[in-house]
Amino acid sequence: MLEVSGLTKRFGSITAVDTVGLEIDEGEIVGLIGPNGAGKTTLFNLLTGIYEPTEGSFSLDGRDLTGLNTGAIAQAGIGRTFQIVRTFNDSTVRENLLPALMFGRGEGLGIPEAREKAMEYLTFVGLADKADEPVTNLTTAERRSVELARALSMQPRIILLDESASGLNPSEVQAFSESITEIRDEYGISIFWVEHIMDAIMGTVDRIIVLHHGQKIAEGTPEEIRNNEKVSEAYFGEVV
Ligand code: ATP
Repeated sequence: MLEVSGLTKRFGSITAVDTVGLEIDEGEIVGLIGPNGAGKTTLFNLLTGIYEPTEGSFSLDGRDLTGLNTGAIAQAGIGRTFQIVRTFNDSTVRENLLPALMFGRGEGLGIPEAREKAMEYLTFVGLADKADEPVTNLTTAERRSVELARALSMQPRIILLDESASGLNPSEVQAFSESITEIRDEYGISIFWVEHIMDAIMGTVDRIIVLHHGQKIAEGTPEEIRNNEKVSEAYFGEVV
């Protein structure tokens, strides 16, 4: 469904993403890991149109999206959440979802219908009782859930999650991981998930891709990645 080929981003002399190729199928949950500075966020920024690739291309359902702007890419079906939460802070929880419901990939709802539909997604992420509270009243964990509900409201084909479990306590991490699986099962949406919390990612994903110095150095099941020497070297230095 998502196909990435030879994707490269250079900032001056730094090659942040280096000829990365990958594929993600419909309904797949794929983890993206790698040490700090490996290029994970830059890859997400390329796939959402924040940066234009220096080289390479990517497509969704066979449609080339390379070089399109962020709005066009979101309309094509790639949604995302952010490493540092970016809710619309002058609005209530429910209002955070309205632009996506009115102008996203769905049927283009009017305000009353969008307000009603928002409750479905807020119920899904467990925030129905806070729908009309200012979003700034919420905890970090809850605001991450608002971002997730907002991404779902766009009715995307795939959601890119950038460290969505960071700042959460262990039981919140567990609940978040479960909701990722539910998104796939209930809505058929694929997930591409950058995460440093290994327990969260290892227990949830179907497959893991590992970046190091911008390059893809490994790909496999969580078990295969756990036992991969190249990956251990990338994280812990040379294994002797
Ligand atoms: P982390 O796990 O710490 O979030 P990451 O894997 O997401 O790291 P990136 O943030 O993508 O890594 O950074 C990859 C490399 O690109 C780093 O060397 C970083 O300093 C560099 N980089 C990222 N964005 C820019 C930019 N806008 N200008 C210059 N260099 C950048």
